[in-house]
Amino acid sequence: MSFSALGLMPELVNTLTQIEYLKPTPIQAEVIPLVLEGKDILASAETGTGKTAAFALPLLQMLAQRLPVQPQTEKTNIQVLIMTPTRELAIQIDENIQQYSQGLTIASVAVYGGASIRPQMTAIKQGVDILVATPGRLFDIVGQHDVDLSNVSYLVIDEADRMLDLGFVKDIEKVKRLVNRQHQTMMFSATLFSDEIKVLAEKMLLTPALINV
Ligand code: AMP
Repeated sequence: MSFSALGLMPELVNTLTQIEYLKPTPIQAEVIPLVLEGKDILASAETGTGKTAAFALPLLQMLAQRLPVQPQTEKTNIQVLIMTPTRELAIQIDENIQQYSQGLTIASVAVYGGASIRPQMTAIKQGVDILVATPGRLFDIVGQHDVDLSNVSYLVIDEADRMLDLGFVKDIEKVKRLVNRQHQTMMFSATLFSDEIKVLAEKMLLTPALINV
């Protein structure tokens, strides 16, 4: 199985060759075509399985192929929101996205606590397509700085089980009400079958494809 056989466009496949991703990992082989089809996803994801590329690559492709979304006055153009529990993960996901999006005109930024909010806000105001955020900082920028999420049509909940352990369940549910009414959601979790994950999945996902690799 190759990345192009999964439906990825040549620009992305070329980048992947350059960074020596020669073959999709099992989770990538399952998730990439389903995301491209527009499906909601609930996927198991141990660290190191390649889950970041599994959601980031099809999302980059869908953004690249979309007609430009015109931001309304004073609104932002954020189309993808990735929620992740820790600042380390936020930085790492953003770095991966920067790497995969070489040559595409797609901008991404990570926002997280424990760092000044100012440069993060400056980047958002300059225009970003993809926001990678920890929940606390996300609500700082939404609440205090009026960042609008109504253009977000792709939502990723990374490490959902850790988010629940850290008490972010209400934040995740709140985000669902702030993004575009029509949106596609991808949820990743080390465990899929705990009661809490099931309850959250039911609230967040619409007839999701279940991927347990
Ligand atoms: P992740 O599980 O997303 O944290 O990825 C784990 C590591 O595997 C990261 O260093 C990625 O750069 C790398 N990686 C992801 N997918 C592939 C692939 N298809 N081929 C080679 N390396 C990969």
